[in-house]
Amino acid sequence: MLQISNLSKTYPNGVKALQDVSLNISNGMFGLLGPNGAGKSTLMRTIATLQDADSGTIMFNGIDVAKQKPELRKQLGYLPQEFGVYPKVSAEEMLHYIARLKGITNDKERKELVKALLEQVNLYNHRKKALGGYSGGMKQRFGIAQALIGEPKLIIVDEPTAGLDPAERLRFNNLLSEIGENIIVILSTHIVDDVSALCNDMAIIAGGKVVQRGNPEDLVRTLENRVWSKRVQKDEVSKYQAEYKMILAKLSGGSMMVYVNSDTDPGNGFKAEKASLEDLYFANIS
Ligand code: ADP
Repeated sequence: MLQISNLSKTYPNGVKALQDVSLNISNGMFGLLGPNGAGKSTLMRTIATLQDADSGTIMFNGIDVAKQKPELRKQLGYLPQEFGVYPKVSAEEMLHYIARLKGITNDKERKELVKALLEQVNLYNHRKKALGGYSGGMKQRFGIAQALIGEPKLIIVDEPTAGLDPAERLRFNNLLSEIGENIIVILSTHIVDDVSALCNDMAIIAGGKVVQRGNPEDLVRTLENRVWSKRVQKDEVSKYQAEYKMILAKLSGGSMMVYVNSDTDPGNGFKAEKASLEDLYFANIS
């Protein structure tokens, strides 16, 4: 169990990146969903012991993360937002190097582990290739392989599918979904569909605060019978924004659809919509 209690962080420039964040996270895939600038990376980096909060605590299975950084790191697999690689080194060499750093000194054991990881992330056929020549999706899969070394109990992946093409994203998400149920995997992302597809527990974070928390389906149910849509002209959007509780306006087939939140039928040509996680997300961040 990961227990984040009353975590706050203000950067020297005055930005309040985290404001009294509390979250209890159990085994399984947890989605931390929020727009750019919400505070996701600050939270992920703090859990990963790479920076300190101003106040609050993080406990992981009895370890006080801020006070026992080496202990936490032994149980952590981390795929940061910016995953730099040594361009001239091959995936195989790099995994051997990281495995040695993580204390796997027995040659036979390490060889078997590296081979199994390369197979798991579907990079075995590319194992001799320099990492600099890898595509975005291959780099992220390599990133998961390195994060899995040392049988971590807590895995953090920070915006892993941003910048991947749809096929690469699918492959990466399939890989994430195969990571054991018996550990905590935190997926930090602004991509609603990734959370829908993968997570059984989630939070929405905006402006450094947790604004929603729970099982995605349960959260969406709270919006049931309250989402209404209408096709409008592009220049009418601001009028609707002023008149209704707008969730979002988006292009669909070349014209504009507005989605509004209302407990009763707003009339005026609006149709009932099935609520989605996207509606919940936009209703909470705008
Ligand atoms: P996210 O990962 O959700 O995009 P971040 O945690 O990166 O959010 O950023 C949260 C806020 O803190 C943003 O307004 C960002 O500009 C600011 N911020 C992040 N890192 C720093 C820093 N090192 N110094 C000052 N401000 C920062």
